[in-house]
Amino acid sequence: MPTKSTAFLDPTTAVSHLETYQRADGLSASELIDSQLHGGLTYNDFLLLPGRIDFPASEVITESRITRKVVLKTPFMSSPMDTVTESEMAISMALLGGIGVIHHNQSPDAQAAMVRAVKRHENGFITDPICLTPDHVVEDVLDIKARLGFGGIPITDSGSLGGKLLGIVTNRDVQFRAPSTRLSEVMTTSLVTAPEGVTLSEANDILRDSKKGKLPIIDNQGRLTSLLARSDLLKNQTYPLASKRPESKQLYAAAAIGTRPADRDRLKMLVDAGLDIVVLDSSQGNSIYQEDMIRWIKSTFPSIEVIAGNVVTREQAATLISAGADALRIGMGSGSICITQEVMAVGRPQATAVYAVAEFAGRFGVPVIADGGIGNVGHVVKALALGAGAVMMGGLLAGTTEAPGEYFYHEGKRVKAYRGMGSIEAMEQGKPLPPSTSTNGRGPGSTKYPNPRKAATHENAATTRYFSESSAVKVAQGVSGDVQDKGSVKAFLPYLHAGVQHSLQDIGVRGIRELQEEVRGGRVRFELRTASAQVEGGVHGLNSYTKRLFA
Ligand code: GDP
Ligand code: 5GP
Repeated sequence: MPTKSTAFLDPTTAVSHLETYQRADGLSASELIDSQLHGGLTYNDFLLLPGRIDFPASEVITESRITRKVVLKTPFMSSPMDTVTESEMAISMALLGGIGVIHHNQSPDAQAAMVRAVKRHENGFITDPICLTPDHVVEDVLDIKARLGFGGIPITDSGSLGGKLLGIVTNRDVQFRAPSTRLSEVMTTSLVTAPEGVTLSEANDILRDSKKGKLPIIDNQGRLTSLLARSDLLKNQTYPLASKRPESKQLYAAAAIGTRPADRDRLKMLVDAGLDIVVLDSSQGNSIYQEDMIRWIKSTFPSIEVIAGNVVTREQAATLISAGADALRIGMGSGSICITQEVMAVGRPQATAVYAVAEFAGRFGVPVIADGGIGNVGHVVKALALGAGAVMMGGLLAGTTEAPGEYFYHEGKRVKAYRGMGSIEAMEQGKPLPPSTSTNGRGPGSTKYPNPRKAATHENAATTRYFSESSAVKVAQGVSGDVQDKGSVKAFLPYLHAGVQHSLQDIGVRGIRELQEEVRGGRVRFELRTASAQVEGGVHGLNSYTKRLFA
């Protein structure tokens, strides 16, 4: 008996059929976040649905705007915390395409020196090179090398830029020479130079062909006007993503300050050292102090980009945007070391906060930075999808070689200290953990915490961040602990970068900007995850396993 034919559609029309199909899978971002059916969401509460792949992951562009004027090649920032970002981290983050924000739980002098180290690390034309005279001695060169890290010094008659160029001293000229030897005896006088007005690319060609380490640039009177270093050519090749100012080729430097009168003097010193971006570091940014500070900075240093915050609501954001903020930092209580939500009963789940503020700030062209709670590549992608221009990480980077402090062993694992800036330990600056929790066995004065030498030379940044500088009782908003060794940030950040590229490929978008446009247009879709979906999405049902994240 013939079967009744079912009215199936023609399979070759499946793709075009989607256009007339009434149901789209998943939710748009606004349906996901704004739904009244559930409360605020965290990154783990949802997933993105996959799209269509027609390009390799390596083609995904991770360029992103982090402030009104600054665009980076990767959307990664490190937190201004004294166990996360000092100059070594800031230099590495910038070389790898992100940016590190130097903490302010140290004296203004020490912080300015760190900014200077970042700015001096890489250059196009060095427009303020250190110079000496022929009457200086070998010891002066060794001293500069020890303090600033370079030993290639132009010798001019005045000992400064603008003097007549007489020679150059390099590391090899001073090796094995008595410290008191005058530089006139050791300097090289047969010089390869380039004339003032030469372009950077012409000068680089001369440097490459001359095989010399430095190229002095001189005017038509033979006076030194700038210097080029061969090592900068090499850094250019090794770090193609580096975050550099387009004109000077110097790395971008960012640093945090508070909002009190003394912070204005601190900022002046940081600007003198070459600062590009300042972060106003407060756990609750919607304050009259911060508004005043933004206005003062914008009128005093108009070229400095100001990242204000932290905020988690549109209302908080509106105040800071009106005051002139160039970017907003979002997060209250989402950090891994943070107990704000528990103690203060204020805060907001981070995914909801990022979406709400990014959507609002985006209308005014103000980028936002998702700060805290980033524990893996997936969290980075979710923050970007919800509108963040960058993510800021503390705990994820605190275990890397470039973070301040020494490694020690805790229960058989190699770890580094990581503490909240609102922890009692940070508010008391440099004080070691009490013996009951101190596990490195080195006792007081151990190197577990960075910079004890800088203690008490300044007003404590941690107490000001949490508005408790004048309180008789300090109420902690963070804890102190340790995180596992993650190796060098030079391997870890490229892993995060490649991870983001692969994720965007799965989503079917070729870059962060496209991701955000497609989310806004409702074409990149989301799905809520129930508690059991979250269990299903993690490793489960194994007796034991090892989790290696990259190779
Ligand atoms: P050197 O051979 O010991 O001088 O050191 P390198 O050439 O390896 O490194 C010099 C690095 O320091 C380069 O990245 C320069 O851009 C940077 N730098 C910053 N300021 C100065 C300066 O005043 N003089 C020199 N020589 N290098 C500087
Ligand atoms: P993480 O990346 O470890 O999850 O979070 C880092 C972020 O937590 C920092 O950038 C900063 O915004 C925030 N934070 C740092 N210290 C504290 C603290 O003691 N308490 C709170 N509430 N937040 C902190």
